[in-house]
Amino acid sequence: MAPEPDSRGTGTAQEIADGVFAIDTGFQGVTGAIGAFLVAGPDGLGLIETGPTTVRDQLVAGIAAAGFAIDDVRDVVVTHIHLDHAGGLGSLMCDYPRMQAWVHPVGLPHMVRPEKLIASATRIYGDRMDSLWGAFLPVPESRVRPTEDRQVINAGGRGLRVYDTPGHASHHVALLDEHTGTLFTGDVAGVRMAGTAFPVPPLPPPDIDVAAWKRSIALMREIGPERLVLTHYSSFADVDRHLGLLEEGLDTAMALGRDVLIPGGDDEVLTARLEAWVRAELGDDTDRVWAALDAANPLFMSASGIHRVLRKAGEVEP
Ligand SMILES: [Zn+2]
Repeated sequence: MAPEPDSRGTGTAQEIADGVFAIDTGFQGVTGAIGAFLVAGPDGLGLIETGPTTVRDQLVAGIAAAGFAIDDVRDVVVTHIHLDHAGGLGSLMCDYPRMQAWVHPVGLPHMVRPEKLIASATRIYGDRMDSLWGAFLPVPESRVRPTEDRQVINAGGRGLRVYDTPGHASHHVALLDEHTGTLFTGDVAGVRMAGTAFPVPPLPPPDIDVAAWKRSIALMREIGPERLVLTHYSSFADVDRHLGLLEEGLDTAMALGRDVLIPGGDDEVLTARLEAWVRAELGDDTDRVWAALDAANPLFMSASGIHRVLRKAGEVEP
């Protein structure tokens, strides 16, 4: 099924648990690629993820579709600072001066002074920077606070417990809505599209850490949430099964990387191998979700991330 181009700009929202809303940001005109999430409390809204600046209209429309206004957002928490999750935070905060933001302390300096983040993204995306992500404005320093592991953020009067969950990125947190047992997992629970059974591990450079990621998977099991909410994109209740597959998938992706790169193959070959693997796992769902998967988690990025891990470990030539 082709993505619905008219979903762009209209904004859609779905209540996935009591007072928890998922908004499809329609990134790049594709449905089901990048989500943002609302928790509604007695004193206003908490927003989890902003998406990039290019999805601002859809985000605002999605909040309206959920029955609220963007002015009601008090606290914004991003799971990590990758552009598809947090690129729009600075511009949003400039336009809505009552918002306060929360970012992992390792990521926070790069949101306040984004020059390095923008430079490294530009090396990857080149002249597609603007059409993909739009403007990346600095987050006002006085209105952003570092998260602390296990703290409870009072988001519009609703408690979100913070869990440091490195692996996909060193500056990654997951957030538990304690009222409904909903765990917002950013990218640490992988990428899994609505109606599919298979979580794809997103492995972009620069700081994939497989051992840390496995500890984060163990932590998510220990938390024992009712559901996982993945930024790319949906909500799933088969928590143990999902996390088991993700853990196996990490090993499979790294094994494919060794298989291709150690004998001297390049990233292009590895990308093709990753794609063949993911297509086989998705089976009949492949065609329906490929556009969303490719927009959210292009596999050439994972090939490059795997390559970097193996280079750092000395398993392949620098
Ligand atoms: Zn990410």
